[in-house]
Amino acid sequence: MNLHLYDSPTFRMACQQFDLVADFMNIPEAARERLKMPKRALSVAVPVRMDDGSVKVFMGYRVQHHLTLGPTKGGIRFHPDVTVGEVAALAMWMSWKCALVGLPYGGAKGGVACDPRSLSAGELERLTRRYTQELIPVIGPQVDIPAPDVGTNEQVMAWIMDTYSLQMGHAVPGVVTGKPVLLGGSLGRREATGRGVAYLVSRAMDTLGIPAQGATAVIQGYGNVGSVAAVSMAKQGIRIIAVSDAFGGIHNPAGLDLNRLNEHVAAKGTVTGFPESEAVTNAELLLLPCDVLVPAALERQITEENAARIRCRILAEGANGPTTPEADAILAQRPEIFVLPDILCNSGGVIVSYFEWVQDLQSFFWSEGEVLDKLFRLLEQAYMQTLNHARKNGVSMRFSALSLGIRKVHEAKSIRGLYP
Ligand code: NAD
Repeated sequence: MNLHLYDSPTFRMACQQFDLVADFMNIPEAARERLKMPKRALSVAVPVRMDDGSVKVFMGYRVQHHLTLGPTKGGIRFHPDVTVGEVAALAMWMSWKCALVGLPYGGAKGGVACDPRSLSAGELERLTRRYTQELIPVIGPQVDIPAPDVGTNEQVMAWIMDTYSLQMGHAVPGVVTGKPVLLGGSLGRREATGRGVAYLVSRAMDTLGIPAQGATAVIQGYGNVGSVAAVSMAKQGIRIIAVSDAFGGIHNPAGLDLNRLNEHVAAKGTVTGFPESEAVTNAELLLLPCDVLVPAALERQITEENAARIRCRILAEGANGPTTPEADAILAQRPEIFVLPDILCNSGGVIVSYFEWVQDLQSFFWSEGEVLDKLFRLLEQAYMQTLNHARKNGVSMRFSALSLGIRKVHEAKSIRGLYP
């Protein structure tokens, strides 16, 4: 099949992972293409009036991977490197993730190629609203429900909800998740992904017999996922010794004071320059000795270049697609490293997004305790299933998680049949 529309390193990586699992599961060739190829992709030119009066056109995308089990679900990314191929890969991973944790969704993803940090608040709002307007034919609470991802946040979700609702003539909170609580967002959604990462790290430590007290963690990407994971792991007694963002990293083997670090980030917009720490590059940070390494930034960070040299006991993938298949092959020779694969490790976000959507559809809202209790129960189930399946079949945790997710979608497609 000609993949030229999506051709990109990240889409090729997602296909490579899929093909390995499909070989293992003996999925017939015809079913493979149906499972792999995204169902729909929308590409939109987004004209935005800039503050200086000029008009700039940004490219935006939304890819819906499969529609077999319900509406599609996935984040919206604002980042200069966004391409339709990257968005398609992220949509495919969302499909396997939702199936793994048992949510009634197919995967989707969206994005606009832009640098949100270089836009004023007004420009960001106009870009978000025009992009949403272009997506209206393909999104909706029963069709496709966006959420935050890199470069987007609660405010961006509020503008999406408002733009969609104005077109419909009434408030439609169920069109996006990750909204402010006041607009129908769920308690605990903002923290869900990072808390989920920390929960699974503690389960992996139980499995490996590593006590939290005295353990150390290194986090690449101190954004929503990375910063909440850091604070949650610190509460468990784990010492956070290094963190980074797009500007660089900081390291203190004695442990970073996260309260002071969060004040520094709020004031300066970056972790760099934090006192009582030494500067490290993002490349150096990944090689620091630690118990837990959490990539929580972008794809393809653990590669064949550095996989043999990372020095952690647990690789907890907060980001989507942080480890390439070439790096996976190297990690397969390093059984001392326990991998919490992305589609399991960061699934707390979409789980609580699902809870938010359910609450919006019923207009009946839960306490934070209820949300957390249900979140940890689903994570526990997915963790144990993935671990047991991996042990039973002698495969890696990634292979196990992907095969559980892919199997569900494959079976659902077989049962529904092929129309006409
Ligand atoms: P975010 O925009 O809040 O934070 C991203 C962080 O990564 C920022 O600190 C940014 O400076 C940093 N970063 C960017 N480029 C970098 C680089 N080259 N090196 C080091 N750091 C870099 O985004 P987020 O929502 O925290 O998402 C982070 C990752 O987690 C993404 O892979 C995303 O797809 C994944 N994820 C997010 C959610 C969610 O609920 N937000 C859920 C599941 C998965």
